[in-house]
This record gives sequence, C-alpha cells and structure tokens, in this order.
Amino acid sequence: MDTQFVTGYRGGYLPNLRRQIEAGLRSREVMGVVTTNALELGIDIGDLEAAILCGYPGSIASTWQQAGRAGRRTGQSLALLIARSSPLDQFIVENPDYFFSRSPEFCRVNPDNLLILLHHIKSAAFELPFEKGERFGGENLEELLDYLERKGVLHRVGARWHWSAESYPADEVSLRSINPENVVVVDATEAGNHRVIAEVDWDSAFTAVHTDAIYMVESQQYYVDKLDLERKTAYVHKVEAEYYTDAMTYTNVRVIDAFAKKPGKEILVEHGEVQVVSKVVGYKKIKFYTSENLGYGDVNLPEKDMHTTSYWFTIPRDRLAGLSYNQEEIIDGLAGMAYSLHHLAAMMLMADLHDIDRAIGDKSGEWFVRKDRNWRTITTSPGAEESAVPTTDAFDPTIFLFDAYPGGIGFSDLLFERHEALIASARQLIRACPCKCGCPSCVGPTLEVGPTAKEAALAILGLIQGK
Ligand SMILES: [Zn+2]
Repeated sequence: MDTQFVTGYRGGYLPNLRRQIEAGLRSREVMGVVTTNALELGIDIGDLEAAILCGYPGSIASTWQQAGRAGRRTGQSLALLIARSSPLDQFIVENPDYFFSRSPEFCRVNPDNLLILLHHIKSAAFELPFEKGERFGGENLEELLDYLERKGVLHRVGARWHWSAESYPADEVSLRSINPENVVVVDATEAGNHRVIAEVDWDSAFTAVHTDAIYMVESQQYYVDKLDLERKTAYVHKVEAEYYTDAMTYTNVRVIDAFAKKPGKEILVEHGEVQVVSKVVGYKKIKFYTSENLGYGDVNLPEKDMHTTSYWFTIPRDRLAGLSYNQEEIIDGLAGMAYSLHHLAAMMLMADLHDIDRAIGDKSGEWFVRKDRNWRTITTSPGAEESAVPTTDAFDPTIFLFDAYPGGIGFSDLLFERHEALIASARQLIRACPCKCGCPSCVGPTLEVGPTAKEAALAILGLIQGK
C-alpha cells in the first residue's frame, strides 16, 4: 500500500487540501488520515471505518467524539484506544467500566469567580447597556460596573453603562484560562528580520520560555536567549539540541480560610481558600529518547502569588511515625500518593492535568516539600537554604490539590465531596499496577519518587482509609 501524507495547519485545512482528502477517502486512494485532535473542522470524513486513538484524550466526551470519527457512513466501525503509561490512561484500561458507564456531560465553571464574572459582564455590556439596579450573578453589580468605568471599558450616561472600549470583549475570553495576558515569542535568528512565532499564556511562560529554555514550535527547536517580562516578550533563536528543558518549580501553599471540614478516619479533610506561591528555580536538561539528565541551570524569575480554592487533607505526624518507614521514605510515599491523586482527580473532574495542581506542606505555609537539584524530595521553609534532610516530625503533612486558576473555578469543592472515592481509586490504581517499585502509571517514575514510594504510598493510603 502506498502511504500518502497530508498535513493540515493549526486552525483548519486549506480548501483544496480538504477537497483532496475527501476525494481521496471516497476513491480509497487515501487509506488513512493522521491527525491531531483538530480534524473535522469543516472536512467530510464520513468514509473512515476505524479510528485509532493514541492515548486517552483526557475526557470521556473527547474520547467518544474521536472514536465517532469512524463509521459515520458505513455500517460498522472500530475504535481502538492505545493507552500510554500515564496513570490516567492506565486507570481507564484497567477500569473500562468507568469509561462505559459514565455520562460524558460534565463541566465545571464557577460563575462567581470574580475574573470570570468580569469577562461575562464585559461581554454582556457589549451586547446591551446595563441599567442601574439590574442583576447579573451574585456579586454587587454596581461596584463592578464602576470598576469597569474607571478602567475605561464602560461609559456611564445617567443610569446606564455603555460599552466604550474599542475591542471586542469575547476575543479576550479563553475557554481554558482566565488570565488574558500573553508573552510573545520572537524569533531573532536573523538580525533585522525578527518575527513573532508563537504566543504563550502568562502562567506557562515562566516554565516554557524562561531564559535558557529550549522551546519547540512545529518541530523546530528554539533556544530562549532572554525572557523579558516587562515587554512580555521571549527572544529566541533556532537551534538543534539533543535535549529539552524541564523547569523545576517550588510551590508553597498556605491556608487562608477553610470553608468546610470533615473528619476522615485518621485525618482531617477540608476545602477552602489558599495562597499559592510558586517560583521557577531552575531547569533540567533532559536528553531525547534516553531521558538522561544532562545537567541543570538556574532561573531567576519573580515568585508568582495566587489566591485560589483548594481541597486538602492533613495526616497527623504521630500516625505517620507509626508506619515502618523512615522520614525520607514517608515523604517519598506522600509525593507518590499525591502524584496519583492528582492524575485521578483530573480524570474525575474531566479536567486537564494542568487545570489543577498539587503541593505537600503544612497548612501555615511554614514547611513545604519540593525537589532539589538531584531530583530528590526535600522539605524546606520559604527563603531557607535547601535543607537536605526530609523531615515529617516538624509538621503534620498536608496534601493540597488546588484549582490552578486565580479565584478558583470550582474543582476543589467537588474533590472535597468525593474525597473517599478519590482515595479508594488511588489505592486501587497503585495496588493493581504491575510495576515493582513505582512507575509513571502509578506513583511516578522511580528515579523521581524513590524506590520505596510505591509501598509507602500504599501504607499511607491504608492508614487514611483506616484499613
Ligand atoms: Zn506502577
């Protein structure tokens, strides 16, 4: 069979390319289409008979949608899902009932999140002026309208607020992120011919295009010469490197207010508002294919501070001390457990892994757990020099899973409600995993979480469940 490759581009297919694919499929000259998840934007693929999905798409809805690309015109069709080694993929293939028995319609958004509400108010005001005394959401509308007036977005005439900005408000609204600021990536390979090759959202910029990072666009590697936060620009040049970079971040969470609490068997489960301080401290160079660590570099970027909502639970230190592991092994076990909880929570919420984040520390923010340069897990205090000794007898370890967006978008209260189910699935996933001492499908790669992380995580989960 001849293989013919056709490629699309981000944002749709060229009309003649589309016709070529459609005609090719009908005449059977094109036997298959290799595509990203963007296939179908205006293209007739009714003749496809089988769909092969490389990796779980992340939600039940997307899986059905991608499986449904085959068999639209023919009687029978086949859909194959090839699982990767991530915990999410492994859980799905180990528990097919989870996939087949659940309704895909499920979406979380918190309409009272101030930033989301402001976007909605702007979009609404663009359509029709707001009148004094009108209601929209639960917040004090007049205060928000006044704020937008001061910002020059709205203009007040008598008892009405009219749209006065030049832009179209919905352009700024992203379905995936709240912060509208972006960093542009400028290719400065040729002097005098600088061109913009990509835009990265503000939050991702710190890890994706920090100075000295390797950034990839359309399979071309670029070396980041400088990330200029003031100009919101990253200057890059083309390069061929045998490695990619992986940013190392520390995250410290402090509880501001607990909205609700429930005692678990041995632990306290809560959800509420938290302050999350994160800082990119360096990066690792990782060799392609072998994943060898080729070295480190420092990154000097400001801390990011965010208030959001979180779900967390706290395990008393004396209960952990009763387990037959030393403190280092306990910390590794906690990190491994948090890894699998994070992946399973993303699945439970039908969210992307990056929509929520995880941290281990204590509730006051005095202590937190992070990786050191050798990728070992350590405990430390903010501002302190790296403490080499992991310790769990200074604080009661708390596992945080928090909404990765300012103000929160409603994930954490759902996780709080489903705490028991989440703990049970993590235990089931880790137990059922055939690996010996940890892998990316359960508690994370052994080199990152340590050789005893798997059994320690299981012991801690057993402690939490009280059995
Ligand atoms: Zn495993």
